[in-house]
Amino acid sequence: MRILVIEDETKVGCFIRRALEEESYAVDLCEDGAKGLEMALHTNYDILIVDLMLPSLPGLEILRGVRQARIQTPILILTAQSQVDQRVKGLDAGADDYLTKPFAIDELLARIRALLRRGSTESPGVLQIDDLTLTPATREVTRGGQRIDLTLKEYALLEYLMRHTGRVLTRPMISEHVWNQDFDTFTNVIDVYVNYLRNKIDRGHSKKLIHTIRGSGYMLKVD
Ligand code: CA
Repeated sequence: MRILVIEDETKVGCFIRRALEEESYAVDLCEDGAKGLEMALHTNYDILIVDLMLPSLPGLEILRGVRQARIQTPILILTAQSQVDQRVKGLDAGADDYLTKPFAIDELLARIRALLRRGSTESPGVLQIDDLTLTPATREVTRGGQRIDLTLKEYALLEYLMRHTGRVLTRPMISEHVWNQDFDTFTNVIDVYVNYLRNKIDRGHSKKLIHTIRGSGYMLKVD
């Protein structure tokens, strides 16, 4: 899952980015409001985290710009404790949730998981296909009851596949949601990671879950 963080305080922004990356999210950090809106309009993020007090373009204008473009990506806004009116305006302008600074990183992570659950039909907290399960809150993955250890990137890739079970996912779609803006499109890194995952998820099981769709990409499904 890929997240855009628009926050002009470098310390806060870097802190958020590091915490999110440790949870396997792909993160782009932008310190400028106008540039942040541009990025939000041109990349298909899974969540936007927007500080309301920004130079060049206020967070409220980013919210309005995104919603006017009919982009439904969940938005979490960051405000100072005292800015009640800003919070209200933010929610009215299309934000889905807010946090006041300073906040505990665990609360930010829990709110992100809640936003990712919205609009999906998954049972609260656990993704499942056949005997494969993934629990975002603990990042635990099991197959047939056996725990599987994944690296951060393998986990991020599997989470994306599991949230889109039964759909063909092209390499551009996968790179857009699992890698950040530093991704080099001229490598076969996606295929490499899919192979890593296959070795951990499917090897030794008669029922394969990760399928190659020739000429298109990959799909997670029960055959
Ligand atoms: Ca700020």
